[in-house]
Amino acid sequence: MLSLLRSRARAGCPRNRQCEAKRVGRSARAESEVMANKVDAVVVGAGVVGVTAALALQQCGLAVILLDQRSVARGCSFGNAGVIAPGAFPLSAQYRITDLPAMFLKPSSPAALDWASAPRLLPWALQYAKATRSDVWHDTSLLHELCRDALPSYELLLGSDLPPISRRGYLAVHLSCAELAAANRLNSIRASLGVAIRMLSGPDLVELEPALGGLAARATFIKDAAHVVDPAAFVTTLADVFVRRGGLLCRDRVQVLESKGSGEITVRGALDSYSPRAVVLATGAHANQLLPDCDYRIPLVAERGYHLELDVEPGFMTRPTAIPSLGVVFTPSQYGARIAGISHFGLPGFRARPELILSALDRVRKILPALRPRPGFEVWCGERAATPDSLPIVEQIPRHSSVFVSSGHGHLGLTLAAVTARIVADLVTGIFSSYSRQLSSQRFGLRSKSYAILREMRSSTKPP
Ligand SMILES: Cc1cc2nc3c(=O)[nH]c(=O)nc-3n(C[C@H](O)[C@H](O)[C@H](O)COP(=O)(O)OP(=O)(O)OC[C@H]3O[C@@H](n4cnc5c(N)ncnc54)[C@H](O)[C@@H]3O)c2cc1C
Repeated sequence: MLSLLRSRARAGCPRNRQCEAKRVGRSARAESEVMANKVDAVVVGAGVVGVTAALALQQCGLAVILLDQRSVARGCSFGNAGVIAPGAFPLSAQYRITDLPAMFLKPSSPAALDWASAPRLLPWALQYAKATRSDVWHDTSLLHELCRDALPSYELLLGSDLPPISRRGYLAVHLSCAELAAANRLNSIRASLGVAIRMLSGPDLVELEPALGGLAARATFIKDAAHVVDPAAFVTTLADVFVRRGGLLCRDRVQVLESKGSGEITVRGALDSYSPRAVVLATGAHANQLLPDCDYRIPLVAERGYHLELDVEPGFMTRPTAIPSLGVVFTPSQYGARIAGISHFGLPGFRARPELILSALDRVRKILPALRPRPGFEVWCGERAATPDSLPIVEQIPRHSSVFVSSGHGHLGLTLAAVTARIVADLVTGIFSSYSRQLSSQRFGLRSKSYAILREMRSSTKPP
């Protein structure tokens, strides 16, 4: 199977000659029936990770169908803060496992736990604890390396079709001397990893973002950060490019994967069945819904984040600005600006708590009293797919050579989507890089074993 894909890719066969561009809808369904047995790859999930993976596979000359149960960018990719970061720190580099209970219990904390999910988060927590002890430096430098490639990867994937990306940098405001000292420590690591940093005083900050004039604070300015104002529109534009280039986008909920050892795979959706040569699961925090069909799981929890539109005019601010101690970031939006943030952990699908972002806004209003929710807008929330080491998981599933997964992008899905899309396309076309090993979930060897043991225990205690 892979050799066939490889030869097609290398021969540079015309892009998707079997595909006709169709949008989600009835006509796409009819088309997908025609395509069902001809397609090279099915990508499940039309968030930013799936859409970019579909584009990268298409760029390799493969005929691709992109499926989503809803529509493009209706999951976590809808309402993120829009930042494309030039570097990032894993959560495990910032918080020890012993710090977390106090953070979850503190009423004013930007972190929360869905206590009903807690017992089943234990294996993930053990891996998180391991990540805080052993591999922090490796994970930090790998995450920075991947982030550095973010903009060039989008440019390579989209060329002149790339929608506007604003390159105005990113601000992190430090409200106290203790925060400033912590920021200085992180900044020296950032600088050693090649991220350009400038420390701004209060007047410099006001010059860059006059709306933050009330904050007599110092700030870190990360010049090479970029942002998109409307993340959902950004991903929708990428999906339009995929369709214009000959890809097929269909609405269908994938219910079952039937994968045989021979490499044959059938993707059974609620509407259609597909028999591609490769399937890529880009279903975000819900990756473990389909992977058990391949007798596989990856260590993933859902980390809900929230956003709320603010009652400010367009142009209120011109670049994303974080207040790390309050766990929020203000970011320009198509209406003016929104506040985004909160790390609320649980099992995928757990109950949301919109009051978390409302109380974060209350705390912000102590220093910026003019900020209010925009009338007529509700709190939005999305589930980030969080791995214990904050690095994404991109891999070919062992013993199921036609099945690939790209998930676990955590706080960095918009940043890393085009980077991991290239890694996915390499894996599907049989090109192995050092990333294939570093981003495989096999890096959690011990954890995979403990999942396997848990699975065995569960199945042996099931009634016949
Ligand atoms: C508040 C907040 C702020 C953030 N800020 C940033 C930021 O500034 N920068 C950044 O880089 N990242 C940010 N992120 C993270 C980023 O949004 C995510 O990492 C990214 O959107 C994940 O994309 P995805 O495609 O993996 O998942 P999703 O966008 O969730 O897409 C998964 C898709 O799979 C579909 N799906 C699932 N199961 C099935 C099935 N069985 N059949 C068919 N379809 C299925 C879903 O409908 C969904 O559309 C933020 C996240 C939040 C919540």
